[in-house]
Amino acid sequence: MTGHLFSWLAIGDRLSDLMSFRTGIVCSLWDLVDEGVDAVLDCVHGELGAGRVVLPLATGPVTQLRPRVSTGQRIFRTGGGIHFTAEPDRYEATRCKPLVADWLHGRHPADAVARGCRERGMELWVSLATADLGRMVAKHPEAAVKNVFGDGSQHRLCLLNADVAELLRVLTLEVAQRFEPDAIVLTGLMILGLDWQAERLDGPPRFGVVGRLLAGLCFCESCRQQGGKADVDMESAARGAADYLSRELEGGPATDSSVGEWARSNPPAADWLAFRVKSILSWLTAVRAATRCPVYIQMELDDRTTVAKLAGRVDLPTVEPRILNLSGSVDPPRAREQLAECLTGCDVERTGLLLPAFDPTAPDGTRLVQLLTAAAELGVPSVNLFQYGLLPHGRMQEVRQAIRFAGRSGN
Ligand SMILES: [Zn+2]
Repeated sequence: MTGHLFSWLAIGDRLSDLMSFRTGIVCSLWDLVDEGVDAVLDCVHGELGAGRVVLPLATGPVTQLRPRVSTGQRIFRTGGGIHFTAEPDRYEATRCKPLVADWLHGRHPADAVARGCRERGMELWVSLATADLGRMVAKHPEAAVKNVFGDGSQHRLCLLNADVAELLRVLTLEVAQRFEPDAIVLTGLMILGLDWQAERLDGPPRFGVVGRLLAGLCFCESCRQQGGKADVDMESAARGAADYLSRELEGGPATDSSVGEWARSNPPAADWLAFRVKSILSWLTAVRAATRCPVYIQMELDDRTTVAKLAGRVDLPTVEPRILNLSGSVDPPRAREQLAECLTGCDVERTGLLLPAFDPTAPDGTRLVQLLTAAAELGVPSVNLFQYGLLPHGRMQEVRQAIRFAGRSGN
């Protein structure tokens, strides 16, 4: 398991007001069902010593090669969707109705998980993949993100599409009311629209920072309409983006020194980007007000960096952290220093971290112990580890040790 540190930002709350340092484990509902809800909760709470379960209740497609035979099937697959049966009456105002994930077959195991967490005094956080809901895109291609070349994504819905925004608003509200979680984490909220990597394009991945930003920017019909209404010159914005990308693709000289510089010389495209940030933030603020439980947004640090570049134009905590790649760049003795570097500019009390529970390339859990302890010492209030279903039996001891050490450092 490689990848980046992700982080999440609290909307309107300081994480540190809500809790002392606590570690959570992301547990997929199918793993809870296959191993038994009580058995998994007892393991997470009793054996691993985590005080929280993070339960993804809306996801994209998943194919999981499972390390433990106790889970039944070695490979688990789902086309994604909503992992509980939503109440249809709530969704009358949107044409995008929630699609229940294919593997559930009419069962409702999420209720038992919520109950089990409460009985054990554990926190329950629910996570919802916002723009990536698997089969939803195939069913509603009109609501997909569309890049400047007019190509619709097969993975992501456009958050500025009114039907998508309403679906996600009601979904968040329903989850808050039905499962009464201690917090909701919204994932996949990419401000730009497109996750360029998820599209798995064959092609030269040669875009620079500005190129990546423009390649991910949505220009779907809903976006063009809304931008136009807000007096953004959408035609010039699209032309500017397409010209820039064409130049990069055709091997022209790299012109992007910085996003700020680019924004100054391309006012319509910069206006469009700023409008997107503002729209998504105002949607988030409304969702936060309706749910009455803390709402966190999980963002890849890269995306946060992009957004931060525009932070001068919108009301958003300014962050410009560096990417910390866990696949090898974390040197255990320097973990604290590296994490501190990565958190530079973050409002640490409002920032949590999501880390892989174990790294198969590492010989042992030293790196995890160092990182978790460093997070606690640096005042990061909350760390979640993903994920329970991918954790081999033989590596559980190191997770338990890391959670215990960090707990001591954070209190
Ligand atoms: Zn759009």
